[in-house]
Amino acid sequence: MQNISYGIVSLFLILMAVATSLGAVFPLSPVMAGMYLVVVLLGTLLILVSYCSKCPCRDSDCSHVLPGKLASLLPKRKEGPYSFADVLFTAMGIAAILLMPQLWLIHNIPSLVLFWGFIAVAVFMIVFLVCPDCSNRFCFLCGKRNKTPA
Ligand code: SF4
Ligand code: SF4
Repeated sequence: MQNISYGIVSLFLILMAVATSLGAVFPLSPVMAGMYLVVVLLGTLLILVSYCSKCPCRDSDCSHVLPGKLASLLPKRKEGPYSFADVLFTAMGIAAILLMPQLWLIHNIPSLVLFWGFIAVAVFMIVFLVCPDCSNRFCFLCGKRNKTPA
């Protein structure tokens, strides 16, 4: 059983980055903040459908806990290697969440630094502390990828 605390903390840091960008844009444009919230929700759904719904550990052993629980509520997809389309749509979801706020963060340097600081620490934790123990052997970052038969 992996240590899920790193997975939970890294997800929390990503949520803090999203909160930082919402906090920066809301006073300028509540409409834009609402649009970003919709983009975050749609991007998250895209990631859950494209990646998490094919993950073998989504039901009981998700490294980040919450995505696995949300993916369990979606229609099940057959577990197996990810297709090019799965990876592409997942990347689009992540890119939308990370890149859209740059429109206003570029004019707010403290928030820009905070946003990328949260993301950098989260990515560091995920790559070096979460992925090595993750059970999603179909993910190319999984530390158990070559140890478990597919
Ligand atoms: S381990 Fe990764 S791919 Fe699997 S459900 Fe959790 S977040 Fe999604
Ligand atoms: S191995 Fe893949 S699914 Fe698992 S935590 Fe890392 S990036 Fe997420």
